[in-house]
Amino acid sequence: MAKSEQKDLIIAYRNQGLSYNDIAKRLGVTAEYARTVFSRASRVGRKNDQVRPNGFCKNCGNPLDMTGDHRNRLFCDDKCRSEFHNQKVLHTPYICICEQCGHEFVAYGNPAKRFCSRECQTLAGSKG
Ligand SMILES: [Zn+2]
Ligand SMILES: [Zn+2]
Repeated sequence: MAKSEQKDLIIAYRNQGLSYNDIAKRLGVTAEYARTVFSRASRVGRKNDQVRPNGFCKNCGNPLDMTGDHRNRLFCDDKCRSEFHNQKVLHTPYICICEQCGHEFVAYGNPAKRFCSRECQTLAGSKG
């Protein structure tokens, strides 16, 4: 299993509420490793928020008009705000079970995904 895929699985399992011990057992890693990966992943998110200085849109990075009532704004407009939140959702990994082959797979931003691959989707469709 690729390292990055393993990390995504750790994050996905954790988001599902599994304990580090359970995650460790499933992936054949140590609980300490799972904990480190997860806390590092969540720390990166926070760090990014801090690095981006006030005065720039969190979505597109354009300078913001921070005068008057706009002092606390984080985005240029509603479009940037919703784009930013959509991106966040899109990158959240979820563990899903393929309805066709029964394998666990990682789906990004869609906990209701039904198939691990296009092949499985096609196979499931052709069964009628
Ligand atoms: Zn923007
Ligand atoms: Zn499948």
